[in-house]
Amino acid sequence: MEFVEAKTIMTKVKDGSSWYGVDFNMNLYRGCSHGCIYCDSRSSCYRIEDFDRVRGKKDALLILERELAKSKQTGVVGIGAMSDTYNPLEKKYETTRGALMLIKKYGYGVSIDTKSDLVLRDIDVLKEINETNNVIVKITITTPHDELSKKIEPYAPPSSKRFKAIKELTDNGIFAGIMLNPVLPFVTDKEEDIKRLVYLAHESGAKFIHTYMGMTLRDNQRDYYLERIDKLFPGMMVKYFKCYQERYDCTVLSAKHLYEVFKNECKKYGILYNMKDIIKAYKTKDKDEQISLF
Ligand code: SF4
Repeated sequence: MEFVEAKTIMTKVKDGSSWYGVDFNMNLYRGCSHGCIYCDSRSSCYRIEDFDRVRGKKDALLILERELAKSKQTGVVGIGAMSDTYNPLEKKYETTRGALMLIKKYGYGVSIDTKSDLVLRDIDVLKEINETNNVIVKITITTPHDELSKKIEPYAPPSSKRFKAIKELTDNGIFAGIMLNPVLPFVTDKEEDIKRLVYLAHESGAKFIHTYMGMTLRDNQRDYYLERIDKLFPGMMVKYFKCYQERYDCTVLSAKHLYEVFKNECKKYGILYNMKDIIKAYKTKDKDEQISLF
């Protein structure tokens, strides 16, 4: 693996912790090899050249330890928003595992975004962090169908493996659930698929599902996506242009109705779907602390 220079690893989240209650963000790798055709990290604003090639960050754990030790406050560290931290190279390099051990050592919580069941390797460390701090694992699942996930997320484990990962995490007491983002217009927005996904989430013990019923498209990421979706489903490019032109926010056409269906299915199985409720539910350690202070 190639390594790139990095000055910092962890950054403080500026706008509070409204997105999954995350206080800090870090990406231990640059680029991602899961090949999701819709990936927003391909947008030119992030300036990640040759995005599909994963690179490590030189001395990542040394830099991280310095940052964790000197920060005046602790909190929840989000890992993997821009590149999947459980990419295949993590098996060998164990940078994410090393970061989790440091997070534990310095008394922080953690929020992981991934599509890979490799996260199960680190259940032991997650359980240790969970004893004293807040832990949430968000696994992205965009379709209940393995064949479709293989088309739109070609190098990530199929959906069924991700559901199994959620089961194992929740069986081990880790607060885990699904990011149903993005929902691809005309592709993954079928009512029966949304219902099936919520049902499978329930079967796997998922604590939450969060969705915004749409996708975002901008600059070169739009071109990349439209070219690929048109190859998979001929005629789709024209359909997108007719419907969304050059828009950034591409909400699915029946979003209101579909969200109602989604909400009702979640309610039926007792699955959380509202961001505030998800944060409240997993930040149990904060509550424990407040109770003991009181
Ligand atoms: S796993 Fe995430 S970061 Fe990687 S290609 Fe897919 S959407 Fe992008």
